[in-house]
Amino acid sequence: MAPDPSVPAAFAAAWFTVLGAVVGSFLNVVIARVPAGLSIVRPGSRCPRCEKPIAWYDNLPVVSWLLLRGRCRRCALPISIRYPLVELLGAAAGYLAWRRHGLSGEAGAELAFVATLVALAFIDLDTWLLPHVITWPLLAAGLLASLLGWSAASTFPSSLWGAAVGWGVFAALSWGGEKVLKKEALGFGDVWLLGGLGAWLGLGALLPVVLLASIQGSVVGIALVLLGKAETGERRANEAPAADESAADEDWVPPRNAVPFGPFLALGAVEWLYGADLLARAFPALGAFR
Ligand SMILES: [Zn+2]
Repeated sequence: MAPDPSVPAAFAAAWFTVLGAVVGSFLNVVIARVPAGLSIVRPGSRCPRCEKPIAWYDNLPVVSWLLLRGRCRRCALPISIRYPLVELLGAAAGYLAWRRHGLSGEAGAELAFVATLVALAFIDLDTWLLPHVITWPLLAAGLLASLLGWSAASTFPSSLWGAAVGWGVFAALSWGGEKVLKKEALGFGDVWLLGGLGAWLGLGALLPVVLLASIQGSVVGIALVLLGKAETGERRANEAPAADESAADEDWVPPRNAVPFGPFLALGAVEWLYGADLLARAFPALGAFR
């Protein structure tokens, strides 16, 4: 239900957009610290290069990055454009949550859901991991939100079945794939993520989401191979200074010519969340899954 376009509504829209940007700013901390096992509360924000604390006025979402022209005030080393990008994604999620649901529990739940997917996608790009400390609460929160009628799942049973079937099918693929290929085909992080997506979006969303993820993942994977960009982990290491902090998986090398699947599952879920109507109109076969 879209709210009416009055002046208070414009304030509410601005408020949700700023809230989303602040959430995005927090996501940057989560993305940098959770894989390294660091606290997301303390210490306060630090420059990823010189590790000097960042003052609040240098830490305003998007704005500070633009004012500082993407450089740290202390060490003048560049700060990845990914920081303002994640903040912009948060701002967009905040605005859309309000636009789609007004001031409601659904809006808050949707912002939290999309924000969590953004964090998981970037963590997976950096580290090829989807941490359980995020995917387990995602699944539990999806069931709870559905119980309250705040999720995109049509009913609570749809949410429960979505979680169970999403988890079960990917778990079977993971075990089966490992037996047949003698190597990890589908990580267990993806298994828990699909369970969480099923909890938030409902049983019917599973097939379209996996379809969207697979198609886009294949396109990007093939493009990276053709461009010769997928051979080393160099690109990721450069973009993510925080990943250097986790020495645990230094011995693990990402597979050649491959991209992690988690970001595409997250992308597919967000596309289905916002665009199920549009997608069902474009591809009538998908209408059955709405
Ligand atoms: Zn610095």
